[in-house]
Amino acid sequence: MTSSSSTNSFLIRNQTQIPSSKSQSFLHLTKPPTLTLTSTKTKPFSIKCTTESNPRVTNFAAGPAALPENVLLKAQSDLYNWRGSGMSVMEMSHRGKEFLSIIQKAESDLRQLLQIPSDYSVLFLQGGATTQFAALPLNLCKPDDHADYVVTGSWGDKAFKEAQKYCNPKVVWSGKAEKYTKVPSFDGSEFEQRADARYLHICANETIHGVEFKDYPVPKNPNGVLVADMSSNFCSKPVDVSRFGVIYAGAQKNVGPSGVTIVIIRKDLIGNSRDITPVMLDYKIHDENSSLYNTPPCFGIYMCGLVFEDLLAQGGLKEVEKKNQRKAELLYNAIDESRGFFRCPVEKSVRSLMNVPFTLEKSELEAEFIKEAAKENMVQLKGHRSVGGMRASIYNAMPLAGVEKLVAFMKEFQARHA
Ligand code: PMP
Repeated sequence: MTSSSSTNSFLIRNQTQIPSSKSQSFLHLTKPPTLTLTSTKTKPFSIKCTTESNPRVTNFAAGPAALPENVLLKAQSDLYNWRGSGMSVMEMSHRGKEFLSIIQKAESDLRQLLQIPSDYSVLFLQGGATTQFAALPLNLCKPDDHADYVVTGSWGDKAFKEAQKYCNPKVVWSGKAEKYTKVPSFDGSEFEQRADARYLHICANETIHGVEFKDYPVPKNPNGVLVADMSSNFCSKPVDVSRFGVIYAGAQKNVGPSGVTIVIIRKDLIGNSRDITPVMLDYKIHDENSSLYNTPPCFGIYMCGLVFEDLLAQGGLKEVEKKNQRKAELLYNAIDESRGFFRCPVEKSVRSLMNVPFTLEKSELEAEFIKEAAKENMVQLKGHRSVGGMRASIYNAMPLAGVEKLVAFMKEFQARHA
C-alpha cells in the first residue's frame, strides 16, 4: 500500500483492520486529511493538518518540543512490530528481554554521550522535574539540614519553594529584582553559601527566562554537592558530570517525550532518604532495581534511547554544541542588529543556547508577529504566560534551517513595520 490519499481513507474508515506486514507504510502519511475531532466534555476542537510536501511545522515549543525527524521516522517504522518481536514497545513486558535491551542500551548510550563516571547511577524515573524538587531534599537532607538555592528564574524558585516543605533551604542569590536576566558571579562577591549546606542547587538553564549557566559554582561545604536542574539544556553540550552530585532533567525538551525524568546521581549520595520518603521518590529503591521497581515509562525510555543514538551518530555532544551555538548566534545577532526593533533582555554572557526570549519595541505588534509567523508554519513562538513577549526554543532537534527561516521572517517583518 502506498502513502496516498487512499491510504488516508483506509486509516480513517477502517481503523479496526490490521494491515499486513507488507503494508506498514500505512503509517507514513504524507498527505494527511483535515480531521475534526469533537470531545464530549470540553468544547469542540479541530486539528488542521497541512498538506504540503513537507507536512511538518517549524516548532519552537519550549517543551514538549520538536523531536529529530529521523527519530520519529524510526519510531514509526518500529511502532507496529519492534524488531520482529511481534509487538510494539508499548506492549512489551518491562521485565522481558526486549525491553531490558532497550533500557540498557539507552543507559549505556547516555553514559557515553555525557562521559558519566562509573561512580554515578543513571535513573529513568517519572513525575517530571517537578517531582525532583521534593525528591532531592527527601533523599539528601534531614528536616533541619541546610540547602542553598541560587535562583536565576521561575524554575529555581519553584524548586526552592518545594524544598521548604522538607528541609531548611535558603535563597542565597535571586535574580528576581532584575527580572531574571543574570547569573551571579561565583567569587563570593555576589552571594555567600552556608558552610554546612548539604547541597547548592542551580537551574542550569531557565527555560522561561532564557538564562543559562556557562560555568558552575563550587559548593562551599566540602561535604556538600552541586545539584542542577538541567531539564532544558540536557545533552545540548558536554558537561563535566563529576562536578555535580545530582543532575536531573525532564526529557521533553531535548531527549524525548514527556513522562521520562532522568536522574544522574553520585552513588554515595544514595541510601540516605528520610523515612517518610514515598517509595517512588526514593533513589535507593530505583537504583537497586535498575529503574524497574515498578512499570517505567517504557515507550518514553525507548524514544530517549533513539535520541541518544542519534546524538552519538551526529558525533556526540561537542558536535551538537557547535550546531547549537551556530543557531543561537544567528538568532541573537538578528535581535541585536535590529536597532532595538527586537530586544532580548538577558545579559549577553549568560544567554541561553536553548530558549531565546525576545520582545518587540512596539509591543502592540507582538500578537501580529506570532500570528504571521504561524501562517508561515512557524509555531509556538509565544513567550511564557508569566513573561509575555516571544520565545523561540531552539533545542537540539531544531535544524539550522528552522532558525534561518525565523530570522528571515524577522527581518522581513521589521522591514514592513519599522
Ligand atoms: N525545570 C525546568 C528548567 C523546566 O523547564 C521545567 C518544565 N518546563 C520543569 C523544571 C518542570 O518540569 P516538569 O513539567 O517535567 O515537571
